[in-house]
Amino acid sequence: MENSKLEAQDICVRFGSVTALDALSINCKTGITAVVGPSGAGKSTLLRVLAGLEKPVTGRVVIDSHDISKLPPHRRRIAYLTQDYALYPQHTVRKNLEAALASEKLPRRERNERIDSVLDWLEISEFASRRPGQLSGGQRQRVAIGRALVRQPQVLLLDEPLSQLDVGLKVQCRDLLNRIAHEQQCIVIAALHEPLDTLQLADWVYVLGEGKLLRSAEPTAVYRDPRSLLAAELLSPLGINWIDLGLFPGELSPVELLPGDVLPGKCEQLGFRPEAISDVAQGDYKIDAPGGGAVYEDGELHMNLQVDSSRDIGDAFLVHCRFHDVPLTVRAARPPVNSCLQIRVPKSRLWIREGDRIRSLEND
Ligand code: ADP
Repeated sequence: MENSKLEAQDICVRFGSVTALDALSINCKTGITAVVGPSGAGKSTLLRVLAGLEKPVTGRVVIDSHDISKLPPHRRRIAYLTQDYALYPQHTVRKNLEAALASEKLPRRERNERIDSVLDWLEISEFASRRPGQLSGGQRQRVAIGRALVRQPQVLLLDEPLSQLDVGLKVQCRDLLNRIAHEQQCIVIAALHEPLDTLQLADWVYVLGEGKLLRSAEPTAVYRDPRSLLAAELLSPLGINWIDLGLFPGELSPVELLPGDVLPGKCEQLGFRPEAISDVAQGDYKIDAPGGGAVYEDGELHMNLQVDSSRDIGDAFLVHCRFHDVPLTVRAARPPVNSCLQIRVPKSRLWIREGDRIRSLEND
């Protein structure tokens, strides 16, 4: 299959007084695009518009320069996988796939060949004569994906495909979606909400908030420079630490660390993720005072933290601690010594928060 391009331009959807999508435009290529946002952001509505199940007030959907806005769902080469998979419980796996081809009027031989090749590709041939109730959750999802793939779609839409799967199945599903996107050259668009799923799966991310587009970039770019509080939170697997700037001692020179237009004394906060730090080995401590103190030196913020508790998480320690009574969580390489942890945060991993806006100090 050729490389395809899907564009949704200027899409508005309203439900009574609720604006579910507000002049939203996206542009997706072959590969995996994640649509992320909190509950109610408009992710499902966007997928439904692309599938032709929701009619927008304005805007159009274009695939490879063809405006498909007026085509009914079954005439779009777009498959939509809902969270509940929508399989026919009374039909076998094979019949479920067959039913997906009902509107295509294919000769019997071609239809059977398509079904066999999809069953084979998804490694579910051995379950062909079982009913959905006789399958595990992961196998049922494969059947649902099979129903989509027999139609040879250009675009596969998935609503929260990973949310109901346990860790092992998530890995398999991520691998499968990657193969669909990159081997079968399909445009895969998935609504996701787990930060790690987005980071590990997506080639491109659209961040939605209240029906508006907040950010569009590669996942690592959003991770490093999210620009809005919402985007930062959506891509922070361990949360974010925020500290009022006023809590830093005088020696943390705003001129040195902060952009010129950030005035100390306004209510900005300094932020960093738990995994953004390195812990300092005893003997290399920059700060003597226990339980507080911070210096900025050689492009790094050094902080002295008072430890409340620490948990060994296998390859690191998750440490709950305090900086001037502000609770923080950090991911440290070594266990803390004597209720004290000294950390370093490079400038490239520090943010300044002004309301909902986040500025990355390094990119400023
Ligand atoms: P998400 O998938 O990000 O959770 P949705 O697209 O489901 O968000 O919903 C976006 C907004 O539109 C929400 O405020 C939701 O309550 C509203 N909404 C969605 N579908 C309908 C509907 N059929 N009728 C009325 N309001 C709806």
